[in-house]
Amino acid sequence: MQVEDIVMDGHPVPVLIQCEDTGSFELDEEALEEVLLNPKIADKYVCVLAVAGAFRKGKSFLLDFLLRYMSSQQSQEWLGDVDQPLQGFKWRQGSKRETTGVLIWSEPFLIKKRSGEEIAVILMDTQGTFDIQSSMKDSTTVFALTTMVSSVLVYNLMNNIQEDDLMNLQLFTSYGMLAQEDCDSAHPFQRLHFLVRDWGFPYEVPYGHQGGQKLLDEILLVTEKQHPAHQEVRRDLRKCFRDINCYLMPHPGFNVIQKADFDGRLADIEEEFVNHLKVLVPRLLSPENLVKKEIGGQPIKARDLLKFFTLFMEVFKDSDLPEPTTLVEFAAQASSQAALEAGKEFYAETMEALVGGDRPFLKTVQMEAEHSKAKERAIQTYLEKNKYGRKNQSVVEKYQLMLEEEVGKMFLKYSQQNEAKNVFKAARTPATLFSVLMF
Ligand code: GDP
Ligand code: MG
Repeated sequence: MQVEDIVMDGHPVPVLIQCEDTGSFELDEEALEEVLLNPKIADKYVCVLAVAGAFRKGKSFLLDFLLRYMSSQQSQEWLGDVDQPLQGFKWRQGSKRETTGVLIWSEPFLIKKRSGEEIAVILMDTQGTFDIQSSMKDSTTVFALTTMVSSVLVYNLMNNIQEDDLMNLQLFTSYGMLAQEDCDSAHPFQRLHFLVRDWGFPYEVPYGHQGGQKLLDEILLVTEKQHPAHQEVRRDLRKCFRDINCYLMPHPGFNVIQKADFDGRLADIEEEFVNHLKVLVPRLLSPENLVKKEIGGQPIKARDLLKFFTLFMEVFKDSDLPEPTTLVEFAAQASSQAALEAGKEFYAETMEALVGGDRPFLKTVQMEAEHSKAKERAIQTYLEKNKYGRKNQSVVEKYQLMLEEEVGKMFLKYSQQNEAKNVFKAARTPATLFSVLMF
């Protein structure tokens, strides 16, 4: 049977850009808005799958296979024709560095959870050094942002998982840990997936998921003999992520790294690598593994994710690394923002059930009484959900006022909607009275 080429919509969108002159980072809010406020997804819960790690280790190359799988609508034939060049996020031969930054795919994908609920999946590529020594601030901004906004973080490594790799990751997750200090229940981050490329010891530990789990268990084991800093990094990672997985990939073959005109076609890639892609890619992108992004224990929608990008960039806009106090403040704001959205949603649902759509007209006094009750409970919802905010009372109060303002605006909208159903007012002329009586 002839296998068709997989057709892919979209293009990479740079969202975090480094300014050439000053070296500082800027968020392209317009570009982000275009993707996250797309009506197809704006009000859906969102999963952000990001691939992070050092330069030139096949991150974008892998992401393009993820794109191919999503574009084929998870079909059995998702790999397509063996002679189809690999496209999507730009990947390339050679050792030259590319600019540092974060890119997302312009077309979000919708996937159905087992419950029937649809969530939006955003694929994110990163370009940076991912090591503490070289250009600390650059890589910290890129990878701390990636860690903060993703719900599935694929940490792409070469040959093995080294102590340095864990230490680097700890730096980026430390922001999440600071946020977690005030909160004893939820993990600040959701899934971490170590992806080891060109796994070096397949005769000791086999390729694949099970081998990966075995390696991970050995590496993350805390023993008395370890240096205290090494013990701590392991404990931190377990505390930070709800779920940690690992997959060991074979080498893709010499065409991939040496053939001058290699364009990513499967025909040039080692069969063993392709066979593992067939397992790894559907596994990474299975609905149960595509978890919703949560902030402060609350799942968030695409529309709200936009606010977290901007909040986060506020923290990192200065030339120095942020102080811990700034980060605690950031955590309080992020948590308050998520709780505010939950409060608004509660209010909207309550009022919608009372006066929305085809509900009958409510008398003004009744409407006001219901509004006060719903507002009170929306504030309660806000306070209950605002786990990280609690230690910073002024932030909690500021966002509570914002919630009250938003609720006020929504009340006006519902009042107008309700008034429009007032047949006594509408029936001023015999013609309208007639239509009201008829229908
Ligand atoms: P990125 O900078 O991490 O995004 O790396 P790219 O995806 O641009 O790939 C850089 C180079 O690595 C390209 O020449 C790819 O063909 C090659 N490459 C892709 N996957 C692998 C892999 O699993 N192992 C090795 N050794 N090279 C790979
Ligand atoms: Mg790349």
